[in-house]
Amino acid sequence: MGLGAIGRPMAAHLVGGNELTVWNRTRARAEAFVAAHGGRVASTPRDAAAGAEVLLTCLPSSAEVESLLDGPAGILPALSRGALVLDCTSGDPEAAQRIARRLAASGVEFADCPVSGGTNGAEAGTLTVMVGADPPTFERARPILARFGRRIEHLGPVGAGSAMKAVNNALLAVNILAFGEGFSALVKAGVPARQAVEVLNASSGRSFVSEALVPDRVLTGTWPNTFRLALLDKDVGIAVRFVESQGVGGPILHLAADLFHAARAALGEDADYLEAVRLQEKQAGVEIRG
Ligand code: NDP
Repeated sequence: MGLGAIGRPMAAHLVGGNELTVWNRTRARAEAFVAAHGGRVASTPRDAAAGAEVLLTCLPSSAEVESLLDGPAGILPALSRGALVLDCTSGDPEAAQRIARRLAASGVEFADCPVSGGTNGAEAGTLTVMVGADPPTFERARPILARFGRRIEHLGPVGAGSAMKAVNNALLAVNILAFGEGFSALVKAGVPARQAVEVLNASSGRSFVSEALVPDRVLTGTWPNTFRLALLDKDVGIAVRFVESQGVGGPILHLAADLFHAARAALGEDADYLEAVRLQEKQAGVEIRG
């Protein structure tokens, strides 16, 4: 359920060896998926859940997952006892625990299992999957998650996968913002952008952002839409709430959250996450190209 930018390539790995039913809010996307890969289109969430042994969700946030539980078209009344729900949404740890409790009351198992690796990783089937579940549920989930994941990691009880993912993405956000600030200044000072990136990537300040994303997108000035900035903004917000829930002070993550909120307000719901750098370039009056 949820054939978005990352849900669609993940679902493509679930074709074969089992019966596959897909549901997407915009039905045309589910029909296009079935035309390309096979399977059956469900008309409603309830129709998708009825008789399902395993149900996977990949929606923007926990709120959308929770909204599918109830009501005449909801999944809760349709799921059979013993079914397994795997939520690959980058969600909220407390919401994951709430969902797990509601499903458990109907005899349904649940794991939160957000992913990392981007749309390329989803296409290649090499995602990292961060799982929060009871140990037996994790063992049941592992072979299914291995269809699209390479590293399938059990991090603790329900909620632990979501917490891990939120912290990961908060660090990604901080790296993006710090890169944009530092490199806008370097370019303004006349340091050649490509050379500076190469030096960074041979030095201790390098990161996934500088090694993988910057050469592909910033230096070339191409801004493909693979992961919406709005979703990263949501992730940093989850991380802030998570660190606060643990009584840990979070000034850096708070500031990153404020900056990503502002970037989302300026760039809109459809901008890609790396466009935060483009905004910083505009503010500094430079372009980090080379
Ligand atoms: P998209 O915005 O591309 O897709 C969102 C999906 O959720 C679509 O199928 C959309 O349906 C559906 N949806 C949106 N709102 C609702 C709703 N109210 N009810 C039911 N369905 C709804 O997101 P992504 O695929 O990029 O992301 C999905 C999740 O995976 C997010 O939690 C994201 O943070 C995470 N993620 C994304 C990565 C990426 O590289 N893109 C990487 C790692 C994690 P419709 O087609 O009708 O719009």
